[in-house]
Amino acid sequence: MENKEPKFEVLHMNPQNTNSVLVSVGSDAVIFDAWGRAQDWEKLLSERNLNLKAVFSTHGHSDHISAAPDLAAKYDIPWYLNHKDEDLIMWGNPLLEYFEMPRINSDYKKPEDLSEGILTILPGIDMQVIETPGHSAGGVSFYFPDYGILLTGDTLFRDSFGRYDLPGGNPKELKKSISKIYNMNLPNETYVVHGHGIDSTIDILKKQNPYFVSHNCCCDSGCCCGEESHKCHCHECE
Ligand SMILES: [Zn+2]
Ligand SMILES: [Zn+2]
Repeated sequence: MENKEPKFEVLHMNPQNTNSVLVSVGSDAVIFDAWGRAQDWEKLLSERNLNLKAVFSTHGHSDHISAAPDLAAKYDIPWYLNHKDEDLIMWGNPLLEYFEMPRINSDYKKPEDLSEGILTILPGIDMQVIETPGHSAGGVSFYFPDYGILLTGDTLFRDSFGRYDLPGGNPKELKKSISKIYNMNLPNETYVVHGHGIDSTIDILKKQNPYFVSHNCCCDSGCCCGEESHKCHCHECE
């Protein structure tokens, strides 16, 4: 009998760089942050007799999308990426060249938009999409409430956060996004997979990551200074 227990697996595809996540239920699967070459993923899927149903990306940097357009085209399935990151798809080609990977062609299969809300990604697996811009304009995190798993992409790492100096990056937005995750008050044992580096839990983040805190800017609910548009000088925003 086919095993219908969902499986979440962190994979390190060659050239090892990014944490990709393969989720499967029975013979159906989806991939998060499909780094590596599409042909390597195709081989892995066929060896495991898995039918790929969709590909999701936490953001548009090439190390989180490299195999996504080709997989989406090959299996005729959707690839989900927040539209604000579409400009990054071709922009990231130099990084792929650095890793001696195939470039993304200009006629790549276009992604479907991804925004705040709940999506059923496979039978029995609901996923909450959390918009977490700052590392890029269209960055999102994914939370699986029934399985206690959070994928943060490059918004947050085990002991730091993603850079904000690339196109679309914004340090204030990043701070707010980290605060947004913090304020979700997820259970301490929630398993957290980051875009790079070692996995953690909410408990580990609270204890070891000094940036995993609540950022309460007064501007979020009307600024204390009373001006309508201004550069905020509050402690949190400086
Ligand atoms: Zn990134
Ligand atoms: Zn990355």
